[in-house]
Amino acid sequence: MATNIALDLEQSFGELNECVLVTQPDRTIIFVNKAMENLLKVDRQDLIGTTTERFFADKKHFENLSEIYDTPADQRHRKSYAFDIKTGDGSIVPLEVVSAPLFDADHELTGILFISRDQSERIALENRVKNIAETLDDALDAISEGFAIYDTDDKLVVCNNTYREIYAPSAPAMQPGKSFKAILKYGLDRDQYDTKGLTKEEWLQERLSHHKAADGKVIEQSLADGRWLRISETKTRSGRRAGIRADITEMKTAKAEAESAYRNLSLIADNVSCSITEVDLEGRCVFINKIGCEWFNGTQEELIGTRLRERLPWKEREQVRQAFQKAYAGEKSTADIAFHFPDGISRECQFEATPRFDEAGDVSGLVVMIVDITDKIKTERTLAELYAITSTNELTYEDKIAEILRLGCEHLDVPCGIISHVIDDRYSISHAHSPGCVIEPGTSFPLEDTYCTLTLDADGPIATAEASKSEFAKHPCYRVFGLETYIGAPLLVDGEIHGTINFTSEEVRKRPFTEADVQIVRQFADWVGHEIARDRAHKALMQAKINLERIASIDDLTGIMNRRAFLEAANTEVARYRRTQRLFTAVMIDIDNFKRINDRCGHAVGDEVLKKFTGIIGGALRAVDVFGRVGGEEFCMILHNTTMEDAMLVSQRLREKIVEECQFDNVDQAITCSMGLASIAREDVEFSTLMQRADTALYTAKETGRNRCVEFTPALEPDAAV
Ligand code: GH3
Ligand code: MG
Ligand code: MG
Repeated sequence: MATNIALDLEQSFGELNECVLVTQPDRTIIFVNKAMENLLKVDRQDLIGTTTERFFADKKHFENLSEIYDTPADQRHRKSYAFDIKTGDGSIVPLEVVSAPLFDADHELTGILFISRDQSERIALENRVKNIAETLDDALDAISEGFAIYDTDDKLVVCNNTYREIYAPSAPAMQPGKSFKAILKYGLDRDQYDTKGLTKEEWLQERLSHHKAADGKVIEQSLADGRWLRISETKTRSGRRAGIRADITEMKTAKAEAESAYRNLSLIADNVSCSITEVDLEGRCVFINKIGCEWFNGTQEELIGTRLRERLPWKEREQVRQAFQKAYAGEKSTADIAFHFPDGISRECQFEATPRFDEAGDVSGLVVMIVDITDKIKTERTLAELYAITSTNELTYEDKIAEILRLGCEHLDVPCGIISHVIDDRYSISHAHSPGCVIEPGTSFPLEDTYCTLTLDADGPIATAEASKSEFAKHPCYRVFGLETYIGAPLLVDGEIHGTINFTSEEVRKRPFTEADVQIVRQFADWVGHEIARDRAHKALMQAKINLERIASIDDLTGIMNRRAFLEAANTEVARYRRTQRLFTAVMIDIDNFKRINDRCGHAVGDEVLKKFTGIIGGALRAVDVFGRVGGEEFCMILHNTTMEDAMLVSQRLREKIVEECQFDNVDQAITCSMGLASIAREDVEFSTLMQRADTALYTAKETGRNRCVEFTPALEPDAAV
């Protein structure tokens, strides 16, 4: 029977890929197919009639298998066994074995059929999968981001430790199978999130909508403890949601600090009065401050990304290029450059390009600072010129004032400069510099029609560069004179308000006045006040001198020139004659017997006689004639441009006039005088020689009877008589 069965079995299973082995109820092997033979690595012939016991690595399994034989009916339901066998070549192979009892027609057990499968490959695969899973777990826990996967029903599939750590208060709820919403709520109940003003319900809805979209968009989540998370959720191919959370608190703080630092820097950069820009290695602008935008005439949006250098005229472009070259080489470079900026204004500037280095120490760009020093230079120049004007001796007061006004107009770039004198409510122009527009010194206006009322009220300099857009527009001056530009300061002379100095234009000024301009005008006012005071003092001094000279040259008693003044004037006449050859005649006069008047009538009467006598002679002379008292009762007159002949006529007439007019009731003698005449001659270098000749003639007049006029002749000389 066994042989028949064996044949049947060979036909059925011989070539089958599965490993088949059949035993009899006594466990002896009656059939082994080829596949089994290969598995066991023992010749088929050597197996038939033996048991499988020797193959069991663990004999216990062989024992256990006896149950199949004891209760074969139970084996109708396939049962599988797993155990290791030791094959013919000693190698251990894990097997999975299923068995099926074989019955004959009488339901007698005739054998057991085993189908074995080599499990080594499957186990290896399983191990690999297990390893992969473990590696994945390790990997998940190793990454610093929180990682979680939710299935299509939004139930937690897996998450790593970081995920639990990030949401520590929610960690107890993070069980696989728990829904995302439930985990969120758990955390919400424990106030784990900073809902940023939303109610918990609103916050939950918003969070769920992001989660539902899972579109990879990055959202930032703020936690109640101040931490910030970055969340990115995506849908996997299988419809799950994978989310990654990264703690970005440090980054957020650093960013906030950087932003605040940047804002502060920008604020500083925007509030300095110089242009600050940053350029990259290609010379393109990457930062520009407010002033820079003004000067380069564009918005930040328009200017950033462009080469600012190309907006300048070629000459400046070249200067900047050279400075940039040096800075790109790593060296800070500075230059004084006069720029014509795109806003239409020329500025003298201090230019500074400082290289910026990256972490590797290479130049990564330049910080460029341009400082406008136009005003500084201009102010220095103007002050130097003001000093030169005020300190020179070569200019008169009027010249100095004119120069100061011109300098002011030039410095302030306005056409009109005025010094005003304010008396009560009247504003009078005392000096003006106004080429092109006619403002005459001497013109006056009501004070309230001028901006100078404002200046005097302010008690200091005031200015506008565009009156129409300031309070100045309300002032009558704006209506009356239409002045758009005004800068003025009060003039103090010896501590008293004298008026104002002001500079004006009907045009709007291109640039507003600076503090330096105001200071300059203040300085001008100081100097002009000083000059006016000096001029006043000078004039007063001159007047005093004139008075003094007048006093010093007048004879107290008679009010005519004293001897010193007369001789001085007489010498001037001699000099004039020597220049012009215009003749004149000198006449010496002496009152006759004057001593007797004194003696008889008293000295006071004598004085009265002297006064009356000089009054008559002086009143009869022309303004061009000179008359002086040269002794007690001796006088001399110079008859201008008069020959001896004419002089004699004049003298005789005067002599007679004295006889007629100079008589006193209380003087009992006739008052007469004697005169000696001499004309200027070529040999007279000084008046003394001429006077000597006239005196000689006078002497002759006395000698020959008095009350007469005698002309000098050489024969009268004392020597001639001898
Ligand atoms: P003669 O005709 O020769 O000139 O005689 P005389 O008296 O005028 O003589 P002389 O010229 O020598 O005398 C001048 C006198 O005038 C002397 C002096 O006392 C007097 N005398 C000089 N100055 C003044 C003066 O200021 N007031 C008065 N009252 N007398 C004066
Ligand atoms: Mg006399
Ligand atoms: Mg005399």
